[in-house]
Amino acid sequence: MKTSPDVATTETAKHDYEPVIGLEVHVELKTKSKMFCSCRNEFGAEPNTAVCPTCLGMPGSLPVINRVAVEYLCKAGFALGCDVAPYSKFDRKNYFYPDMPKNYQISQYDMPLTTGGGVTLSSGKRIRLNRIHLEEDTGKNLHAGGAMAGSDYTLIDYNRAGVPLMEIVSEPDISSSDEAEDYLAELKAVLSYIGVSDVKMHEGSLRCDANVSIRPRGANELGTKTEVKNMNSFRSVGRAIKHEIARQAERLAAGDRIVQETRGWDEVKGTTYSMRSKEEAHDYRYFPEPDLVPLALDADVLARWRSELPELPDARRKRFAQQYGLSEYDAQVLTAERSDADFYEATAAACDDPKQAANWLMGDVRRALQSAGFTALAQSPMTAAQLGELIRLVKSGAITGKAGKEVCDILVAKGGDPNAIVAERGLGAVTDSTEIAAMVDQAITANQKSVDAYKGGKANAFDFIVGQVMKVSRGKANVEIVRALIKERLG
Ligand SMILES: [Zn+2]
Repeated sequence: MKTSPDVATTETAKHDYEPVIGLEVHVELKTKSKMFCSCRNEFGAEPNTAVCPTCLGMPGSLPVINRVAVEYLCKAGFALGCDVAPYSKFDRKNYFYPDMPKNYQISQYDMPLTTGGGVTLSSGKRIRLNRIHLEEDTGKNLHAGGAMAGSDYTLIDYNRAGVPLMEIVSEPDISSSDEAEDYLAELKAVLSYIGVSDVKMHEGSLRCDANVSIRPRGANELGTKTEVKNMNSFRSVGRAIKHEIARQAERLAAGDRIVQETRGWDEVKGTTYSMRSKEEAHDYRYFPEPDLVPLALDADVLARWRSELPELPDARRKRFAQQYGLSEYDAQVLTAERSDADFYEATAAACDDPKQAANWLMGDVRRALQSAGFTALAQSPMTAAQLGELIRLVKSGAITGKAGKEVCDILVAKGGDPNAIVAERGLGAVTDSTEIAAMVDQAITANQKSVDAYKGGKANAFDFIVGQVMKVSRGKANVEIVRALIKERLG
């Protein structure tokens, strides 16, 4: 899909290095309550209003596993082709963060809920997954410095502490920043289709860390990796990886060594910077969570969850291309969001013309969304039935294509009945031959030069006269009738 050259790849090619990238993606699950307590799981609530003794880590409080979080993770696992373990367990990962009230995080270490699976890129390349495990989110530090001028303290909001989180760990199969962005887009599409998360990077419900290393092309051994954090969009993930690859190549070319460390991404400067030396697993002193029994899932429950999966983006894309005769690109765009794909199918059914439905959605509707200030089709009040009716009106010649665009703008901005809009604004096409004939005669009389030119063999003079008639009719004359009548008059 992306055609722009990968700067980092050209950068490393000079020294013949090959980038090796693995992504760790944290996804907040869209459950009603938190992972181990009944506090509500909600973005944007007043600070510290969704907390209880369990998610605040009070002594004596006990965790209870959220059944829906387990269901969502298993569904993500099935959708991504993973092996879902009927028996898994939770472990304590011990470390200190001010926004983590228990001083440990309940996670999964050596027996995660899923292993294997993968994500297929639009190029067809498959990126293997190592595992998906279930854990809990931390709270949020709010650094007051910027917002409250002169202050240098930090406030903590524990609403997010204990929100169900799944960590999706890929194998280091990604070899460029473009592939990393594509991987995230495909992953996001799958997760939003199955409805387990909002997957909004700007709200933090999807977060991504990138493990980046480079090695001499063709080498088997992996180079020393750095982990890059703090990217807040797919684009910044791409930029950060590109920068990190170039930085490592430069270091190696200068004869330096890469230090294994965690690096932050500075969006404004467009560079990565050292945050801390990278922890190893043994630093966390994992041990089995003593407050929770292992998780044993019945085969019939797993089978039911698997059977509840909807048609996934990849399958839907292929079906759109086949069933509706859409190009690969159109099918890709129209299936990126589940709600858009549903809208498209409903529109195609309403106007009984899949090709036209695609053209309108990819063209005039998209343009109208932009001018109405919407970023997604779902924000417009227009229904598929309304758009379908508009397409029918244009196809039947009841309104011209130009009038159709005008109605489209109104529908996208406000919704409504296309027939009523046409009547209200007097947009109906002029199809009455006597009426059109009068306009044709008027245009011929007023443009005698063009008439002579046409008779003298200048074919484009004909289109000029057609244009003049359309102008007289203010774009409403049926153009087929106009052309036929001019031909008749000029012989
Ligand atoms: Zn709680």
